[in-house]
Amino acid sequence: MYIGRFAPSPTGPLHFGSLIAALASYADARSSGGQWLVRIENTDPPREVPESTHQILQTLEAYGFEWDGNVVWQHLQHDKYQAVLDKMVLERLAYPCNCSRKQIMQRHHSNRYDNYCRHRDAVSPPSAMRFKAQDSYNAHAQEQWSDRIQGLVTSSCSDDFILKRKDGLWAYQLAVVVDDIESQITHVVRGSDLLHETPKQMQLQIALNAPTPSYAHIPIATSKTGQKLSKQNLARAIQPHESSKLLTEALVFLNQIVDPDWPAASPHEILQQAIKNWDMTRIPQQLALVREKG
Ligand code: GLU
Repeated sequence: MYIGRFAPSPTGPLHFGSLIAALASYADARSSGGQWLVRIENTDPPREVPESTHQILQTLEAYGFEWDGNVVWQHLQHDKYQAVLDKMVLERLAYPCNCSRKQIMQRHHSNRYDNYCRHRDAVSPPSAMRFKAQDSYNAHAQEQWSDRIQGLVTSSCSDDFILKRKDGLWAYQLAVVVDDIESQITHVVRGSDLLHETPKQMQLQIALNAPTPSYAHIPIATSKTGQKLSKQNLARAIQPHESSKLLTEALVFLNQIVDPDWPAASPHEILQQAIKNWDMTRIPQQLALVREKG
């Protein structure tokens, strides 16, 4: 069984960097006869660009991607996140913390959280909720894990990270793990910028008695100056009229076999060929790659 997903945050329109994540997750799922779900990760309204959700879905359609079932919207999952958090509190896996960044910094001259509130009885609101990270798993077992592209990855133990923010917004870690569990995701294919979030997500899965999906982190696309293509640095939005050209370029970026005639084919045809020829072992084992064009 294979259930994969593409999980964009609606902080802007899709750009070349997000196209390669969509394409790699799609081709990997379909070439294994698997399902491919789309989830809109809209847990952070202040960072969201309202019209981008529809732009993202329209662009995916224009590029020939076909998702299974209904789109999952994180803003509709708040009750589920709360139920999971309540259970974690009961099981003493989560606790309130009202430390400000400044206080953490002042205590030990670093912005790494020192698990200060873990052992406090009374924490006055407003407070964030943190996960007792290191208690919930066998530290040795999780120091190394295997990524389908990046190979053996070594990660250091994490601090008690935030599950729900002081302002009431859900943290990415909790939302992504609960939704992956709920959707029964078996394979995650995404950008290497999230590589070091993975051990935290694994710890949460263990705490929630859920299986860990297989992970594959593709190299992220950078400009010639080494800057990541992202919405934050205003990477250019991809347009429907350039779908065949950009899909072909994305396949070249992923070191897949492409035919020089493909830019003249329809996006649907290109995707069919990409699925047929898909070979994840060809993807370079690198965290970042320069996108030659633009
Ligand atoms: N929403 C995240 C992003 O757009 C991706 C999360 C994930 O794939 O786990 O960067």
